[in-house]
Amino acid sequence: MALKLLTLIASLCFMSCFMVINSQKDVYDPITKTMEEFSGYPVHEPHLQDSFTSLSVDTESLQRQIEELSTFSDSPAPSVTRVLYSEKDVSARRYIKNLMAHSGLAVKEDAVGNIFGRWDGYEPELAPVSTGSHIDAIPYSGKYDGVIGVLGAIEAINVLKRSGFKPKRSLEVILFTSEEPTRFGISCLGSRLLAGSQELAELLKTTVDGQNISFPDAARFAGYENAKDLSSVFLPKGSYSAFIELHIEQGPILEEEAIPIGVVTAIAAPASIKVDFEGNGGHAGAVLMPMRNDAGLAAAELALAVEKHVLDSGSIDTVGTVGILELHPGAINSIPSKAHLEIDTRDINEARRNNVIEKIHNSALNICKKRNVKLSEFKIVNQDPPALSDDSIVKATESACQELNLSYRKMISRAYHDSLFMARISPMGMIFIPCYKGYSHKPEEFAAPKDIANGVRVLALTLAKLSLS
Ligand SMILES: [Zn+2]
Repeated sequence: MALKLLTLIASLCFMSCFMVINSQKDVYDPITKTMEEFSGYPVHEPHLQDSFTSLSVDTESLQRQIEELSTFSDSPAPSVTRVLYSEKDVSARRYIKNLMAHSGLAVKEDAVGNIFGRWDGYEPELAPVSTGSHIDAIPYSGKYDGVIGVLGAIEAINVLKRSGFKPKRSLEVILFTSEEPTRFGISCLGSRLLAGSQELAELLKTTVDGQNISFPDAARFAGYENAKDLSSVFLPKGSYSAFIELHIEQGPILEEEAIPIGVVTAIAAPASIKVDFEGNGGHAGAVLMPMRNDAGLAAAELALAVEKHVLDSGSIDTVGTVGILELHPGAINSIPSKAHLEIDTRDINEARRNNVIEKIHNSALNICKKRNVKLSEFKIVNQDPPALSDDSIVKATESACQELNLSYRKMISRAYHDSLFMARISPMGMIFIPCYKGYSHKPEEFAAPKDIANGVRVLALTLAKLSLS
C-alpha cells in the first residue's frame, strides 16, 4: 500500500513537472511553435532549457549599447545631439556596423549611408523581411527615439539566433539616414530615397545646410563618395515582403493605460507649408494706423486661421501648428515689413488634411486683400499621404503579443517615421512601446528596460512569423 502511494505521488510529481515544463514550452517557445506550424515538422530537438531562454532578451547588453551610443553626441549627457554626417554621426554609424557584423549580419551601405545588415534565409531568393529605424538625434534630445528600433532590431536578431531559429525569408536590419530634418530641412531623407523619390534625388544635388555646405560635400565628409548618383539608392516596389519598425510611442497613451505594446494601424499624413507676407514697414510712431500694412499682423491672423480651419474639420485627428513665426526687422519700434510662418498640419484622412491646406491658402489670400500686404510665398514643402499598416503584419504582431502573454492596443501613429515611406515599397507595420510621460525630443526621454525588452521580444517573434510566411 505504502509502495503504491509512493508510486502515485512519484507519478503525480512527474506529471506536474511535465505539465509545468510543457506550459513553459508553450509560453516561452512560440518561435519554435511558429516554425513548426508553418513547416509541419519539428524544426529542432526541443531542449527545454534552451526553449526557456530562447526568447530572452539580453537586457544588460542592450542597455549598455543604448548608453554607449548616447555618448556619440555633440551636447552633454543626458541630452543627445547627433546630426547627419557629423563626426559623431560617423562614429555612431561605425558602432552600429560593428554590432551588425558581431551578430553575424552581412553589412552593406548605399550611396547616402542607409545601412543594411542581412541574415540570409534558407530561401534567399524570396523577398526579405526588414526592420529598422534611425539613430540621428535633433539637438538636445534623448537616447531612445529611433535607437530602440535599430539596437532593438539587432537584439531581436540575436534573440532569434539564440533560439535556434532559421529564417526562411532573409531578415534585414536597416539604419535609415537622417530621419530628422535638422541639417538639410528634409525629414526621412534616407527612406524617401529608398522609396524612389526622384524629386528628392534632384533637389539634393543643390541643397545646402545652414553653413552653406552642399549635401554631396557633407556626404563625402562622412565617407559617402557616390552621393551624386542618388538613383542607385532607389529600391523597387516588392524589394521586401514586409517592413516593421519598433519605436517609442512619443505620446502618453500606453503609459497611462499601462499597456506594454501598441500595434500601429496607420500613420497620419503630414504636410508642411512655408508662408511669407510683405508690407511696407515703417516707424512705429510716425506711421498712423490707417496707413499701415503690417506683415506681422497678417501672420498673426493666419496663425489663428490655421487653428480655426483645423478645429472646423470636426475630427480630433486633424491637427495644425504654427511652429515658426518670424518678424522682420524684429525691432520694437519698427512695423514688421516681412513675416515668415511655417505651418505643420496632419491628419489620418488625406482629403480632410488637403481641405485644411486649401482653406489656409484662401485665408492667406483674403488676409492679403484685407490688410493690403503681399503674399510673397505660399509653398507646400511636403504633402505626404498617410500610410495604413498592412493587415498581415498587424495580425502577425497581434498574435506575437498573444503568444508572449503581453497585452496590446491598436493605435495610430501621429508622429511620422521612416515606415511612412517604406509603406510605398513594402507592406508596413509598427510596434510601439511606452515612454515616460510620452516625452520625446528632449533629454528626459526614457523607456524602461522591461518595456524595451518586451518590444524586442514582440519584434523578434513577428519577424520570425513574417520570415516563414
Ligand atoms: Zn524616431
